Amino acid sequence: MSKSKHTIITEDPSLAAKVLKEGGIVLFPTETVYGLGADSRNLSSCLEIYKIKNRPADNPLIVHLGNPALIPDIGEVTEAAKILIRQCMPGPLSLVLKKKDKSVFSTGLTTIAVRVPSHPKVLEMLSYFGGPVSAPSANLSGQPSITRLDDAISEFDGQVDLILKGAEPEIGLESTVVDFSVSPPKLLRPGYFGWEELQKYVPDLENYSDLKEGETPSSPGRKYRHYAPKAKVIFTENQNPDRESAAIGIGLIRGWKFALDLRNNSEYMKNLYSFFRDCDRLRISKIYCFPPANASGKEAILNRILKAQES
Ligand code: AMP
Ligand code: MG
Repeated sequence: MSKSKHTIITEDPSLAAKVLKEGGIVLFPTETVYGLGADSRNLSSCLEIYKIKNRPADNPLIVHLGNPALIPDIGEVTEAAKILIRQCMPGPLSLVLKKKDKSVFSTGLTTIAVRVPSHPKVLEMLSYFGGPVSAPSANLSGQPSITRLDDAISEFDGQVDLILKGAEPEIGLESTVVDFSVSPPKLLRPGYFGWEELQKYVPDLENYSDLKEGETPSSPGRKYRHYAPKAKVIFTENQNPDRESAAIGIGLIRGWKFALDLRNNSEYMKNLYSFFRDCDRLRISKIYCFPPANASGKEAILNRILKAQES
């Protein structure tokens, strides 16, 4: 992708909304990871996101709204979905619903994923904009999502119209995705909210299951390579430090070339992707990832590490 655009870098959410209205592409922080957004009702802008990211054409985008009250305009809200909207929104949760609004971009699907982020700067931008904004994570397809402004600038300066500056993502992993277009509802991707937490509100929630060969993916994005650095990722419980490799985990022993020792799962989530990116910058070829704590966030951390390992 050529880097030919002049990219505005600003803290002004009204300017970001203006650029969206003009059909531009805006990169913005959320409480999960950075996103790459376009007006959901502007087909050519939405398609430009696929070009910038080199994203497969059948991997759908999540529609971002400024207020949960707008969700029923876009998709059919079931009774169970209503409960999660009340309990978890705004926040790091995306709901897949039967699509109602035909003018909103989707990849030919009859369903649509919607989310109301809690990041104050994005909520301001969405409120100035007034409509839906389609946005996947801001990263080249297959690579780890971006969680730091510096990485966003070095990867996308010259390719997007505007980069909105605001507080860095607090969570660090992508939103939880729950599919309410099927019955019983199904957790498609764990995030800050995992299956156990959500089951309290949606008792018949099915857990996501990894695809078996030949099976059609219920979430189109799930069949693609994901979250992976250039380095080889190895998940293991046994620490054998070596001076060539990197390591991330809780309670690391000394002896690695490059290591990140974390105190808990929140720190693990927040730092995993930036650590992957730092390892690539240092041209490290192997990254050992050690188990998260047996606590909230474990499911999402394991999910991302195992996907990165598969790639
Ligand atoms: P990203 O924002 O890059 O994390 O990607 C959006 C994720 O949401 C992808 O994994 C998609 O497969 C998933 N997603 C978006 N729309 C739908 C949908 N209509 N049905 C199922 N999954 C979806
Ligand atoms: Mg993504």
